Amino acid sequence: MSTPKDQPDFVTRANDEATAHGLAHEVIPPDPHGTIGTERFRRSLTWHIARRPGGLVALAIQYGHLRTWVSAGYAARSRDGIHDLLDVETARATIDTVADLNADLKDGIGISGPAARRAITAATTAPQYTGTVITARQARQILANPHLAVYDNPHTLLMCVYKRDKALCHRGLKDTTSLDQCVPACANIARTDQHAAGLQRRATVLDQRAAQVPGPLGERLRSNAGRLRDLADAHYRTRTTLQDGTA
Ligand code: SF4
Repeated sequence: MSTPKDQPDFVTRANDEATAHGLAHEVIPPDPHGTIGTERFRRSLTWHIARRPGGLVALAIQYGHLRTWVSAGYAARSRDGIHDLLDVETARATIDTVADLNADLKDGIGISGPAARRAITAATTAPQYTGTVITARQARQILANPHLAVYDNPHTLLMCVYKRDKALCHRGLKDTTSLDQCVPACANIARTDQHAAGLQRRATVLDQRAAQVPGPLGERLRSNAGRLRDLADAHYRTRTTLQDGTA
């Protein structure tokens, strides 16, 4: 893993490579804030972990592991170092998730699924946090708030509004979600119009692939496409919105 003190060497090497290959547009420009220090490096790292696609999910699943892994190089630092930063960035990403949902719902986006109502409730709490500076203490409170345990899962095109006793992925054996083992019948699932549109897009891609593949494999792709379309159709049949008063 690269560290801040490697940064000048890395930039020089990357720029030499870009120049040697005639890729002037890929040269890393000078940093207007100067050479990156440990503090900014750690902040950037945690920001990206929390916000990469599925990053909040990754943090939720691997939180303990990541805290160990990321902080390994900073062993001398105590609880107020990288751990607090991870808390703050995870809490911020959590708030971003519910704030985005809140904005979408206000814009008329529809939501469906057994956990739709809980997702709406979580979304309504977002305004009290948005625009405020989150301290490490507040971050821990946010992360401990079960009503804010909302994870967007782009892989399965759904939102997990986590409630431990309803989770089918681990049947109450763990404290965190197992989004990589999500069960379609789970009562923690909510879907928005964006998820449904994503299901339809994915179904189209599968159908296109199926057209290129004869035999059982093609059939399987078509069947998967049909399953995704059924999920999208179920969403559009049952969706509610804030504006129609049924949400
Ligand atoms: S099975 Fe339920 S609790 Fe588990 S990830 Fe899927 S929606 Fe969340």
